[in-house]
Amino acid sequence: MRLSPTAVLKYETCPHQYYLDEVLGLRPRHKAANLVFGGVVHGVLETWLRGWLRGPAPDAAALFDRAWQTARDAGGIDYAATQSPDTLTATGRALVAQFAAAWPGFGLLPALAGDGAPVLERKLEVPLAPDVVFVGQPDLVVLDADGALGCLDLKTPSSPTDPAWLTGADQLTGYQLLLDAHAERLALPPVTRLGLVELVKRKVTAKGKGPEVCPPVTVARRGAEALAAYTQKVGWVAEDIDRGRFPKRSLMAHNSPCGLCAFRGWCQDGDPDGVITLAGDPPATAP
Ligand code: SF4
Repeated sequence: MRLSPTAVLKYETCPHQYYLDEVLGLRPRHKAANLVFGGVVHGVLETWLRGWLRGPAPDAAALFDRAWQTARDAGGIDYAATQSPDTLTATGRALVAQFAAAWPGFGLLPALAGDGAPVLERKLEVPLAPDVVFVGQPDLVVLDADGALGCLDLKTPSSPTDPAWLTGADQLTGYQLLLDAHAERLALPPVTRLGLVELVKRKVTAKGKGPEVCPPVTVARRGAEALAAYTQKVGWVAEDIDRGRFPKRSLMAHNSPCGLCAFRGWCQDGDPDGVITLAGDPPATAP
């Protein structure tokens, strides 16, 4: 079994959602614009950072235009009532251009592994138990002016995240686990900081704040106890998956994951319209 930090979070959020997605391989017929947008921005920042390292830095807005147009041409994007292809185009261009302008001021360099390549979106894996491999892809591993290594997640939220969340964020714990396991192979020092760079995707407006790139926010690396607790949790999730425990978890009205669930129509009403298999067919089984 291969489990990523995201898959573990997906299982914890709602085991049945995990089952529909990861076990049955169902997909929403239309992808949420936020997800597509986030994926495009990630890809653009990765390409831009690689280009910046080599020099000269590419035009970030032009990179975004190309990648976003390709995503739009592929179709199947579901925009929220407050979004449109054009508002997201303006927001995305502004965000990546701001990132390119702000990056040199952050005082960080993408860390280079022993093979000379930057540790950007590098796939890493570590065996956690005889039948469980933990896999992940940290967005960006950096060195600061003092040579300290940091792991940064790039996010495109609608509003800035509460920094207190970083202290217990499982995704970052998972990345530390992977980087610690590969430090020697990658010829990197131990990671000392974990954090976020957020590109807040507000609309471009004449008034108000508009899109904003926040400086990196980081916390100290996890201690041995936190790492052991997370490893134990991944093991328990793997065990539950192995035993076929996939209950629906709609939680309370105020924190239900169902409102944002791409499988809601299928799960709650058996409506197959919004769901397809990996082959593009309607689902064969009942929800
Ligand atoms: S609609 Fe709710 S209970 Fe059903 S899979 Fe989605 S999150 Fe889980």
